[in-house]
Amino acid sequence: MLDRIRIVLIGTSHPGNIGATARAMRNMGLEDLALVTPRCDPRDQDAYSRASGANTLVDAARQFDALEEAVADCTLVVGASARSRHLPWPMVAPRALAESLPAALAPEGARAALVFGREDTGLTNAELQRCHQHVHIPTNPDFSSLNLAAAVQVLAYECRQAFLALDDASATPAAEPDREADLPFGVTWDNPPATHADLERFFAHLESTLTAIEFHDPDNPRQLMARLRRLFMRAHLDSMEMNILRGILGTIDKRLREKS
Ligand code: SAH
Repeated sequence: MLDRIRIVLIGTSHPGNIGATARAMRNMGLEDLALVTPRCDPRDQDAYSRASGANTLVDAARQFDALEEAVADCTLVVGASARSRHLPWPMVAPRALAESLPAALAPEGARAALVFGREDTGLTNAELQRCHQHVHIPTNPDFSSLNLAAAVQVLAYECRQAFLALDDASATPAAEPDREADLPFGVTWDNPPATHADLERFFAHLESTLTAIEFHDPDNPRQLMARLRRLFMRAHLDSMEMNILRGILGTIDKRLREKS
């Protein structure tokens, strides 16, 4: 299941950090590296020298123009953040996140992304608002920001430990923890989780319908869409629930057209 965890780096400026990330990932058995608008040449010599042997990951890294594209097929998107932001967001600790992944990745087609920000400015608010949850590595509050590849290393390590613990537990079934209890997508859930692309289409539709009924004013947006994103992402919608919500919006649109 480690192969269904994608590491996404946004706007990386030092190729050495891409190489060091590849090395950290390969050490921990992760393989899927995505780069969103890197601000350097990811195949620079510095990347390969810091990858020291994990060159295949650097070569295989896919590039995207936007976060949404890099995580379109993901069913869980988690943003790694060095500091807290304006609008509070569901926050998990690294170990709790890793321990939740086996259940989150149990449904067929489930895929998780861990998203990391720029070396200088981290993740933007818009990017953080595209994540289901945020993860913060507890550090010295006076000096909280880790080097990018070091942050990847910590989370990749936790993911590996959680999956090793799962192997141990299945070797002795009686000791297996109840992994369904604390997660929205237990293995017996009836519908597959919605993908990030489904969610983005829903949010675009929701915004347009709320604008049409004059509940939402794009010229004075306040935090409405951010709050609605937070609400719906917290619910971890499945694909059937997503279709119902899209259907409701579609019916409102139809009634509006009939009236006008
Ligand atoms: N100066 C930036 C930090 C950039 S560090 C800021 O204040 O936001 C580069 C990236 O590494 C961050 O965007 C984040 O994804 C990750 N990172 C660094 N320290 C972290 C921490 N303590 N917890 C979680 N992620 C961290």
